[in-house]
Amino acid sequence: MPRKRYLLTPGPTPVPPEVLAALGEPVLHHRSPDFKAVFAETRARLRQVFRTENEVLVFSASGTGAFESAVVNLLSPGEKVLAVSHGNFGTRWQKMAAAFGCDVVELTYAWGEAPRPDDVRRALAASGALVALLVHSETSTGVVSDVERLVAACDDAGAISVVDAISSLGAVPLETDAWGVDVVVTGSQKALMTPPGLAFASVSERAWAKVEQATLPRFYWDWTRARANQERNETPFTPATSTIVALNTALEQILAEGLPAVFARHVALGRACRAGARAMGLELYSPDDDSAAVLTGILTPEGIDAVELRLALRDRHGVTIAGGHGDVVDRLFRIGHIGYVDVFDITTALGAIELQLAEMGASVERGAAVAAALEAYASTVAV
Ligand SMILES: *Cc1c(COP(=O)(O)O)cnc(C)c1O
Repeated sequence: MPRKRYLLTPGPTPVPPEVLAALGEPVLHHRSPDFKAVFAETRARLRQVFRTENEVLVFSASGTGAFESAVVNLLSPGEKVLAVSHGNFGTRWQKMAAAFGCDVVELTYAWGEAPRPDDVRRALAASGALVALLVHSETSTGVVSDVERLVAACDDAGAISVVDAISSLGAVPLETDAWGVDVVVTGSQKALMTPPGLAFASVSERAWAKVEQATLPRFYWDWTRARANQERNETPFTPATSTIVALNTALEQILAEGLPAVFARHVALGRACRAGARAMGLELYSPDDDSAAVLTGILTPEGIDAVELRLALRDRHGVTIAGGHGDVVDRLFRIGHIGYVDVFDITTALGAIELQLAEMGASVERGAAVAAALEAYASTVAV
């Protein structure tokens, strides 16, 4: 038998078989009626999943590309922009805005912290920045920030909010219109259960007004041209048509399950994963509460190398999880539970981790993690 593979990283994520099958359909021409019909449906479903009436622009790119589109459409050279970081991705957006010659006002927290709305309010007032770059789920740490209150702070200051929701949209609640989020960016390969290759940006009316004043150069990422094309169910350039067909199927599945049920499943998976880690006597790196519904970050026991553990899981057991970074690279590993994941994916990962930890000399009670995970999951689902 070929090696069976289990993909449990916070992106890319596993994809339902129906979505994979849709990828195998004959390639559609992007100016054909067949494609336009699919794209019309996809646009409508994206608005439902984004919880917005605004157009959701579709780019053939990774999530970083769509975030770059926000920077070049909203900002001008030398313009002040508040860029909030509480981990790897927030720091990426600080560097990106600097690379485009913006005057970056950095608000930086230690990894593992959550940004505070009052700090955002103060930083905007002190700097006069009219745009704020925020991260919803900081995938490097597992911290999910309180976007509703952070965006309210932006509103108070009259600033446009740009939210990196790349690992959160479709996993945890994000009420784009109700919370007044101006720009929401995500990618296809995380909670949207689709292979990598597409990225999205929803844009509010207030943000469109800012676009008209912003002067950074833009061409491929030009939102105005993208919107005009999308209103005809087209894109300016050749999109990843097969991936859009696949995405349309994935969005249909998400909406059929229902967003509240999807979010409840993610909470339950987080609980299962944390209960399993605790039962093995492991320390959590991500928050030990239901906010950590996107991924679980776990530290290895003292003396056990996380990189070695991760590679052994991949090469010996076919289980791919994510590693750590910086100061905790030797200790941290991360299990993603976003998208097409159920509790048996979690028990598979926990079972393999238990086996491998024992082999590397850790004292772990056999079977405890799986039992605890199933119990936590069942009690959550029963509620
Ligand atoms: C995955 C991720 C990104 C990067 O997305 P790419 O699609 O790799 O460009 C950015 N931000 C967050 C929070 C992510 O989880």
